[in-house]
Amino acid sequence: MGRLGEATAAREIDASGRVVTPGFIDAHAHSDVSLYLNPVCETQVAQGITTEIMGNCGYSPFPLLANNRGMLLDPPGVPLEWHSAEEYFERMAASGMGINAFPQVGHLTVRAAVLNGEDRPATGDEIEAMKRHVRDAMEAGARGFSTGLDYHPSTASDLEEIVDLVTIVAEYGGWYTSHIRGYSHNVVNAVAEAIEVARRTGVRVQISHLGICGRKNWGRAPRLLAIMDNARRDSVRVACDMMAYPTAGAWWGPRAILPASAYDWRKSWDENLPLLRDALRDAQARRELKAEIEARRDRPKYGFQEEFMIFSDWRDIHIEELAPESSHHHLLGMDMTTAAAAEGVEPCDLFFDLILNEGEQFGTVHVPISPTDFRDLLTDNWTMFGTDAIGSAIPRLGEPWNTIQPHPRHYGTFPRVLARFVRDEQSLELERAVRRMTGLPADYFGLPGRGYIREGYQADLVVLDLGRIGERGTWRVPSAYPAGIDHVLVNGVEAISNGNFTRRLEGRMLMRESR
Ligand SMILES: [Zn+2]
Repeated sequence: MGRLGEATAAREIDASGRVVTPGFIDAHAHSDVSLYLNPVCETQVAQGITTEIMGNCGYSPFPLLANNRGMLLDPPGVPLEWHSAEEYFERMAASGMGINAFPQVGHLTVRAAVLNGEDRPATGDEIEAMKRHVRDAMEAGARGFSTGLDYHPSTASDLEEIVDLVTIVAEYGGWYTSHIRGYSHNVVNAVAEAIEVARRTGVRVQISHLGICGRKNWGRAPRLLAIMDNARRDSVRVACDMMAYPTAGAWWGPRAILPASAYDWRKSWDENLPLLRDALRDAQARRELKAEIEARRDRPKYGFQEEFMIFSDWRDIHIEELAPESSHHHLLGMDMTTAAAAEGVEPCDLFFDLILNEGEQFGTVHVPISPTDFRDLLTDNWTMFGTDAIGSAIPRLGEPWNTIQPHPRHYGTFPRVLARFVRDEQSLELERAVRRMTGLPADYFGLPGRGYIREGYQADLVVLDLGRIGERGTWRVPSAYPAGIDHVLVNGVEAISNGNFTRRLEGRMLMRESR
């Protein structure tokens, strides 16, 4: 970018009446393998994302060995032709990329390689072996190191192990991103642990997809923000990112409520309905299912699988969608406890009756995060935004291998922030929101030439219509590209032109010391 004077261009974009921003930087995503399999990366580009920080939550695509391939966040059976970070970067350069990406090496991947997938404390020799893998990746050009301390085989790793590994990262001026050791009852300790790593090693630490789940933990956001503020006052470098949705793993209601015997979350809602309805029409089966749901809901929950996959309170289930011809429209937007009280029935029975009577269009969402905590994180000037998405294309995310019903965040994170929180609710100023999507991550992570519209900077740009911008997916049918993003430029070339994908591959893998 620069002053072009009288120069003319082969392509001119009329941006009158539009907002022009730097390309959005996704502070937390997982497109490491998907970008290789589908370089255009439509779901990211469509949101105005021109750069992502990848290799998060401990999952990196290198070092790739026989004993850690199962850790990859992508389909088994796809031929992946690399082992080291260096080979991965070569493959990506050869296949091309639709967006820019900053690579990180992941603790889970390295730990699985060295401990052969076992989740136990590491010996001194094993820590030395992990350090060698981290050093190899940093030498090859990785920018940072990530952990997934909630996930097998990393839960048994301790603070000393993380500090040892991050010390290597510090030698290369890298950063540390942390999926911390719990986002519910342990969240305060977990944030403190991440800050302690930063304090001991001097690296910047980014707390990944911060959120506080479970009613018993509601109201803790001010404390977390204060802990981070105090650390910064102490010259410790700490920041965080968040998803723009108050959800956890079981974002869609049925998965949170129904046991696997009654609902297969790998299949669509439509495919699940016939068997589910058969069960609910049988009085005995209905009674048993209700008892099982209520027992699961009631029991104390510890550990990632339980806390995030199973709901604990009917108040956390919100009615999002009903058939147009429904006679229950007065229940839309209510939580199940309130709705059931209004109908004079128990929540579980209302849930069953809506499944039976509302057709395919009955949609619920599981919201385990408090609205005020969510708002506190959302409005903090140090919070960045992350999709936490596997960037790809709608058809590919619908393939059978993808056992995750894609969360709407895959398609609409950045448009949602601008549409819902900036334009509609006016809880964020446009300029501050854009800064936290662009300049803040660029400054904090130290991404040269990115994040600003400034002379000498790369022309990563978004032209958007603030009046039209927004998500087009729903919780039940999340797969839809957002509206209102007219043009996206990656390194000076249009990736989206007048709302259409150009399928140009102008992105780059931004290894250490490259721009
Ligand atoms: Zn994570």
